[in-house]
Amino acid sequence: MHQHAEYGDQYIDGAWRPSRDDAGSITVLNPATERVLATVPAGGAADVDAAVAAARRAAGSWAATTREDRLTLLARLRDGIAAAQEEITATVVAELGAPVGFAAAVHAGLPLAVATSYLALLAEHPFEERIGNSVVLAEPAGVVAAITPWNYPLHQIVAKVVPALAAGCPAVLKPAEDTPLVARLFARLVHEAGFPAGVFNLVTGTGAVAGAALAAHPGVDVVSFTGSTTVGRQVAETAGRGLKRVALELGGKSANVVLPGADLARAVNVNVANVFANSGQTCSAWTRLLVHQDQYEEAVATAAKAAAKYVPGDPSDPQTRIGPLVNAKQLTRVRGYIEGALAEGARLVVGGAEPVPGLPTGFYVHPTVLADVAPDMAVAQEEVFGPVLVVLPYRDEDHAAELANGTEYGLAGGVWAADTDTAAAFARRLDTGQVDLNGGRFNPLAPFGGYKSSGLGRELGRHGLEEFLQYKSLQY
Ligand code: NAD
Repeated sequence: MHQHAEYGDQYIDGAWRPSRDDAGSITVLNPATERVLATVPAGGAADVDAAVAAARRAAGSWAATTREDRLTLLARLRDGIAAAQEEITATVVAELGAPVGFAAAVHAGLPLAVATSYLALLAEHPFEERIGNSVVLAEPAGVVAAITPWNYPLHQIVAKVVPALAAGCPAVLKPAEDTPLVARLFARLVHEAGFPAGVFNLVTGTGAVAGAALAAHPGVDVVSFTGSTTVGRQVAETAGRGLKRVALELGGKSANVVLPGADLARAVNVNVANVFANSGQTCSAWTRLLVHQDQYEEAVATAAKAAAKYVPGDPSDPQTRIGPLVNAKQLTRVRGYIEGALAEGARLVVGGAEPVPGLPTGFYVHPTVLADVAPDMAVAQEEVFGPVLVVLPYRDEDHAAELANGTEYGLAGGVWAADTDTAAAFARRLDTGQVDLNGGRFNPLAPFGGYKSSGLGRELGRHGLEEFLQYKSLQY
């Protein structure tokens, strides 16, 4: 029989302690093999109470630490993340199904880059500023609840917990049900770095029970949530009642706009790579490719050719570029969007909703490109969270801007033009938090977050640190 680990503990108040709740356990599956990897406790109100109480006890002394004290501990945590790169990669391949090359570069590499970035930011941050006859102090905003999704599981943990700790705030983390193992690995690294008890706490559990209890807890001052817009609204309502500060990183339906004069082939190839990375489970993915109507068929043909290079396969094989989706529910959801679009008259360019031949086990879906999609179809408006690209034609620049801004979301986007100035001028018209011009690289120091229903607040860099600070003005 296949062996799996059965964990019964939570990381609370500086130690691994048996869960205080008897709500059962969460089963963690490998989405490629569908085999059970582990079970973790389904924590509830008792675990959340214990974790928040530990964080509150630690809050005063953690807030009183010097910048240098925090830098020493965070540098050790960063070194721990660096030393654990292979273990992080293997864990994310197993519980998320991310292809091993992508997992090493992004799921392990990006958290290391973000943790490193906060060492420099903490070293230089002005926690005191003179404004006229005031000295303005930036003080920790209190106990932080970090609620994270499964799609970039360690990145999202690090992007919340590291700046919270750097700001002087203790944190309680409730990770996603599908990916608790990398969260447990992170807790181990925090422990090994030697942070004082209670400064970081981990409670695994379901969103409806542990997540809701944490978001509503009167001992929490700041809720930092990444996940779906539906749950984000609930979290914001709950936080509003308690007058807690809230930061929300939510869904997206980002547009990649290729203006006439741009390198169309490159823009389309980069778009296909962008939308199929992580099996399309990326909040900032460019899921809508907007091209001028005169270039439409050329763009569709280029996308078809690029998409053919993405053949679903075993994520532990270094040759694999696209693995499975995270779970059976996502598979049903993604297939439903493809079927719905075809029923509404979209043209299937590549892919489709059928099972992937040769892969009877695992939550695999065909990477899919759809053409002749009307802008008001569900597949062009809603977040699919799978490897599905829709190609839309525009008449002129005004129409392109109207289409790009024509969803409830505004998280990311791309603009391609003959030159950067033209691309930048168009990007100013987009209601979205990030725009990459002519394939501009991801910058872990730039603020990341959404306009409209894509969220509130910003993560990463200095802006991400400021989410966990509050200001006191002294006049003299
Ligand atoms: P989700 O909203 O279902 O879950 C996210 C987290 O919230 C999980 O830890 C879950 O357990 C918890 N949760 C669920 N219900 C809760 C409740 N009632 N109260 C408190 N917590 C609750 O989202 P998901 O399916 O895990 O993640 C996919 C979504 O996340 C997508 O919509 C994606 O776009 C979004 N996302 C956004 C970003 C971003 O930075 N903007 C990044 C990654 C993912």
